[in-house]
Amino acid sequence: MSNLRSLKVLLLSTPVGAIGSGLGGGVELTLQSVARSLLRRGHSITVVAPQGSVLDGISLVEIPGNLQLTAQTGGRNDLITLPENSVLGNMWNYARQVQHEYDLLFNFAYDWLPFYLTPFFDRAIAHLVSMGSLTDAMDQIIETVAQEFPTTIGVHSRAQAETFQFSDRCFNIKNGFDLSAYHFCAQPKQHLAWVGRIAPEKGLEDAIAAVQKTNIPLKIWGVIQDHVYWQQILATYPTAPMEYAGFLPTDQFQQVLGESRALLMTPHWVEAFGNVAIEALACGVPVIAYRRGGPAEIVQDGKTGWLVEPDRVDDLVSAIANIDLIDRSTCRQHAETDYSLEALGDRLEAWFAQILKLS
Ligand code: UDP
Repeated sequence: MSNLRSLKVLLLSTPVGAIGSGLGGGVELTLQSVARSLLRRGHSITVVAPQGSVLDGISLVEIPGNLQLTAQTGGRNDLITLPENSVLGNMWNYARQVQHEYDLLFNFAYDWLPFYLTPFFDRAIAHLVSMGSLTDAMDQIIETVAQEFPTTIGVHSRAQAETFQFSDRCFNIKNGFDLSAYHFCAQPKQHLAWVGRIAPEKGLEDAIAAVQKTNIPLKIWGVIQDHVYWQQILATYPTAPMEYAGFLPTDQFQQVLGESRALLMTPHWVEAFGNVAIEALACGVPVIAYRRGGPAEIVQDGKTGWLVEPDRVDDLVSAIANIDLIDRSTCRQHAETDYSLEALGDRLEAWFAQILKLS
């Protein structure tokens, strides 16, 4: 653990949605975990986020303006776009004005502007990159920052870092969670779980195809981000044993997740981390995931779940048949060892010490 003095840190959230809306995906919870782990260590935290954000017990500055479109949807050559009266622009204009009141700025946005602005700021900026490589323009601007400010790029997994040319300069903070909010459940109900934004890159259809074959019910939690995609799924699998259970606020989600027999993670992209994997383990729920991206670094094959060949529904089916070989208390134990707020705080402080050249 480093001996950092108490720092004043300004956290700048994602501009794709208010905190609590679900549109920001895992970033919304990640920001809260980062804030709470730093607060516990005596650092002083203020969060800047789009208007309408909800945060319990953390100082919050809400900024008006139009939301940014999500970056996952386009192609490699997509141009950088900003709407009129951009909330992203407004948030960083606010940061520019107050920067001297802080020791460090902390960027959660997977957007071009904060990277581009980095050399124009007096204060150091820690950039937590929440997804793998998606567009050439983003790769180029992040790489420029990685070269000029070599310690300032954080990631969630090695697999995510390796999607970039500058993987050797990335600091892997993994992630961490307030595990006291996740209750261990030794006796689950019958259903399996699938959790995430309902959008093509998350691969929900594979999980549904698997439960269609096993005839075990699947509960689905998450924001419907792509309505066309969701309608296609409903049309393709009209008789699958699945139930859409909605998008729940974090505290309610934490109550029900543990009742699942296992979590299925079937992403078609390199998932940077996969918050829901740790949330499941924290409740004692084994994780069956494709051997790809962050989940492949989280799940211990045969101990806390099963890793299966990506995009192979039959392999998912075989893994589902073996769920009961996994000990649910081992799952909880693994979350406690590597993914507590304390473990995250240690990694964050080590990263900050490098950025601020304190170590
Ligand atoms: N989530 C939630 N309520 C729900 C379903 C999901 O709050 O009903 C949250 C979950 O806690 C997690 C996030 O949605 O933090 C999904 O994040 P993940 O990293 O798994 O995927 P992403 O959406 O970032 O690709």
